[in-house]
Amino acid sequence: MAWYDRVKRDLPWRTPAGDFYRVWVSETMLQQTRVEAVIPYFERFLACFPDVECLARAAEADVLTAWNGLGYYSRARNLHRAAKQIASTGVPDNFDRLLELAGIGPYTAAAMASIALGQPHAAVDGNVIRVISRLTNDPGEISAPATRARFAEEAQRLLDRHRPGDFNQAMMELGATVCVPGSPGCNECPVNRFCQAREKGTERELPVKLKKAKTRDIELDLALFTKRGTKSHVFLVQRGPEERRLAGFWELPAKNLFPTWTGQPVRQIVHQIVNDRFRITIWQGPAPRGLPSGKWFGPAELDLVPVTTVARKALRQENQGIPPV
Ligand code: SF4
Repeated sequence: MAWYDRVKRDLPWRTPAGDFYRVWVSETMLQQTRVEAVIPYFERFLACFPDVECLARAAEADVLTAWNGLGYYSRARNLHRAAKQIASTGVPDNFDRLLELAGIGPYTAAAMASIALGQPHAAVDGNVIRVISRLTNDPGEISAPATRARFAEEAQRLLDRHRPGDFNQAMMELGATVCVPGSPGCNECPVNRFCQAREKGTERELPVKLKKAKTRDIELDLALFTKRGTKSHVFLVQRGPEERRLAGFWELPAKNLFPTWTGQPVRQIVHQIVNDRFRITIWQGPAPRGLPSGKWFGPAELDLVPVTTVARKALRQENQGIPPV
């Protein structure tokens, strides 16, 4: 704890009073995303929706627009749904009630119960798993339920009952900055004298993980139409509400919807989602007759609607006035 008090980073959601809303938004954004990447999105989101009532009243499209570029949009939809739950039933005051909110699993509930409510729940994320596997020199494969249960038990045993929120953040910080994957900084580590992996020389082999699934390559061709008389208008189509991913987002239409269109390939971009690597060719040319239902957008309007990351990448490279993410 002394080490954490000395080195902790000054992050916009680390308020002394443990503000519930700020902790909740930050913990949701930090799932699958690095701290440095989250900071600008966190500040933008808080500027749009400064408190839970404001978020509950917002339209879903506005919430997705404020989240645009951060990815994993189900997090934004759940945050919005949970804000409505809180607006009608009040702020949850313990771990079990936190679990009733949309999108909150055991990890986020423990992080929020400890950081925002000061209750003794150990939060075990990937960083904490790495630290504990090394401290205890545990060779268990980390996706196995028995290994997870063992690590959760150990984290709960180690937890500082007086400062549970700070303790959880200290463990995460240790994993993120010192006890890193590959080559940990054992010489600078504040707990190196307790570390069994260091003593046995096994720290680089831990934690034990199953091999990653192979990456799959997927080819896509998308159409970027130009409008006569202006270069700064872009035609986008909207994904339907039934889509499993990115429902309601705007994107470039697939080229194969226009078999007789004579666009030219102008650029290739690569976009990876988990194990799928999309190799996307952008085709450009004058708009054909008989466009499907969709909409022409000017540069200023593109910032007001949720646009897929692929479309944002393509439009930015084509200099269509899309703002940076
Ligand atoms: S001594 Fe090394 S392996 Fe052990 S917890 Fe510290 S950084 Fe991690």
